[in-house]
Amino acid sequence: MKAVLFYEHGGAEVLQYADFPDPEPGAGEVLVRLHAASLNRMDLFVRQGWPGLKLKYPHIPGADGAGEVVAVNPPLPSGEVVAVNSPPPSGEVVAVNLPLPSGEGVAVNPPLPSGEVVAVNLPLPSGEGPGVRAGDRVVINSNLGCGQCDFCLAEQDNMCRDWHLLGETIRGTYAEYVAVPARQLFRLPDGFDYHAAAAAGLVYHTAWHSLVTRGKVQAGETVLVVGASGGVNTASIQVTKYLGARVIVVGSGKSKLALAESLGADIMVDRSQEEDWSKAVYKLTDKRGVDVAVDNVGITFPLSFRALRKGGRLLTVGNTGGAKFEIDNRFIFGKHISIIGSTMGTLRDFETVMGLICSGQLKPVIDKTFPLSEARVAQERLEKSEQLGKITLAID
Ligand SMILES: [Zn+2]
Repeated sequence: MKAVLFYEHGGAEVLQYADFPDPEPGAGEVLVRLHAASLNRMDLFVRQGWPGLKLKYPHIPGADGAGEVVAVNPPLPSGEVVAVNSPPPSGEVVAVNLPLPSGEGVAVNPPLPSGEVVAVNLPLPSGEGPGVRAGDRVVINSNLGCGQCDFCLAEQDNMCRDWHLLGETIRGTYAEYVAVPARQLFRLPDGFDYHAAAAAGLVYHTAWHSLVTRGKVQAGETVLVVGASGGVNTASIQVTKYLGARVIVVGSGKSKLALAESLGADIMVDRSQEEDWSKAVYKLTDKRGVDVAVDNVGITFPLSFRALRKGGRLLTVGNTGGAKFEIDNRFIFGKHISIIGSTMGTLRDFETVMGLICSGQLKPVIDKTFPLSEARVAQERLEKSEQLGKITLAID
């Protein structure tokens, strides 16, 4: 197959468009012919490398991808089914993708009428169930849990004891083919754009887990999003609006703030005009402060603390401004602030958020598409932060 790979860390020049053997799916794995991949800042960090990062060379970058199932590796272990991450009708069983303790039930798509229980006792007859099959159109969930540890069994697979991220420690999606466990796949509706699906994957999954599962953002709350244009931030604006909360965005430059506004942000604060934007945000909330600050910059924590109300929550999934910075602890205890960190999301989060993507309730913004052979140019664009929305790769 054709793939983009590298043998050593460095700048974009280490990326090579080359031939590489097709991956062979292991037990329970599915081979996907990719048609679209999307870029994430993580791809740049992995290419540059960090102390302690151990990769099998050559490494293939890329977490996000969408394409067509070409092979499902039989035989399936008795009693298991292949992935069921597709939009289920209300009240039907959602997921049977973990080895469950005998006699236990599995996830059910809410809402069920109060008091009702859907009992789903394994084992299912071998090979049965709504699994993925060759020809299915799918998007990949790049958060790889082992499926067996206590966290995975508790549906907290992004805290898995043997956690991996596709394209980070395992060869990823800048390639014609990738093999992943079947539970990582979400079936796309007919005709749904592969590029939109690939662009949505990691960033909406991450934003949903942070805002909904961890942050418990409620309708009517006011949420500050620090940064107007990054993939997770644009997803966070849309998810917050979907939840019925008010969004204040702090960003720099007209085009980025215009993008935030087009995504539904209620109030835009231009930090190139307002040096101490925390004061501006404080005034905008009648000196109450925001309920939630989404801060994936890091060095801006002191300003976010100021902008938060007493008892507010600071949600963080990254540090685009650098990993280390000083914070004044008096704000944390004095204002009763909770700092809630997370990375990626669970299988359940993925299925929920991709359902909303496929039904058009959340819409990823695509900046530009490059052919796979031009991944180097695509990464350079991301590195210079020239993009508005997601950069994708066309794999034809
Ligand atoms: Zn696990």
